[in-house]
Amino acid sequence: MTDKAPHIVAIANQKGGVGKTTTAINLATALAATGRRTLLIDLDPQGNASTGLGFEASQRKPSTYELMLGDVSLESVTRPTAIPNFSLAPSIVDLSGVDVDLAGRPNRSQRLRNAIFPSETASLANGYDEILIDCPPSLNLLTVNAMAAAHAVLVPLQCEFFALEGLSQLLNTIERVRRNLNPRLAVEGIVLTMYDRRNNLSSQVEADVREALGALVYETVIPRNVRLSEAPSHGVPALIYDQVCAGSQAYQFLAAEFIRRKGKASV
Ligand code: ADP
Ligand code: MG
Repeated sequence: MTDKAPHIVAIANQKGGVGKTTTAINLATALAATGRRTLLIDLDPQGNASTGLGFEASQRKPSTYELMLGDVSLESVTRPTAIPNFSLAPSIVDLSGVDVDLAGRPNRSQRLRNAIFPSETASLANGYDEILIDCPPSLNLLTVNAMAAAHAVLVPLQCEFFALEGLSQLLNTIERVRRNLNPRLAVEGIVLTMYDRRNNLSSQVEADVREALGALVYETVIPRNVRLSEAPSHGVPALIYDQVCAGSQAYQFLAAEFIRRKGKASV
């Protein structure tokens, strides 16, 4: 990999529990395994990505909170994980109050972008090939900051009855960010998560989503897999915890598809 600017993707869905953090951790791990220098930015005050990578509260300062305030540099909040080529910018719970902290301050929506790109031509992230941003379950200031900094948005969609509900609101937010903050923002794709082969509902939801959204939907589908949910309590990605489980395999396929599709994003 060369020293070109990184590809930045926000992983967003205002619904909680749809697989954003699981996708962020395991896609990042699979990308890092291909030799791509990968940074995961934890922009959720709950800090599940940071916990899932084994970072205790005491190891998280400075965090993305200080980064959003403009008190510290991107470099000073990133640290290596136990996985080669994989760095983390952790979050702390104080991040939940950042919208209040930034009230009345200029460029509130562009704090993250300015931390990565201090000017039109300068980037402080050229040491990375891929940057993934794990967003909170809300279309709030943090998610808008992630979208303003990103090239594209990756949307995990849980295979459940109301899967498509809320998606138009999310696409609407993307459109507004495009209009006001980041004209180049694309939709990277939609990933179906927690697919249950034994359940007819999952295949029905898959069919409906593919019919509605066509090529935006990744071919790779992430199965419901208990190993994916066990791994975070061990502080490691599923891809390290159990490399051959169905969930880990799916995230490796997803990474391959992500690399193939990159730059071809539409909508
Ligand atoms: P979000 O970040 O969107 O809130 P998470 O990635 O934290 O969602 O997932 C919510 C919960 O579901 C977590 O407990 C996680 O371990 C579990 N989970 C996520 N994806 C899967 C999956 N494919 N199979 C089984 N459990 C999953
Ligand atoms: Mg999460």
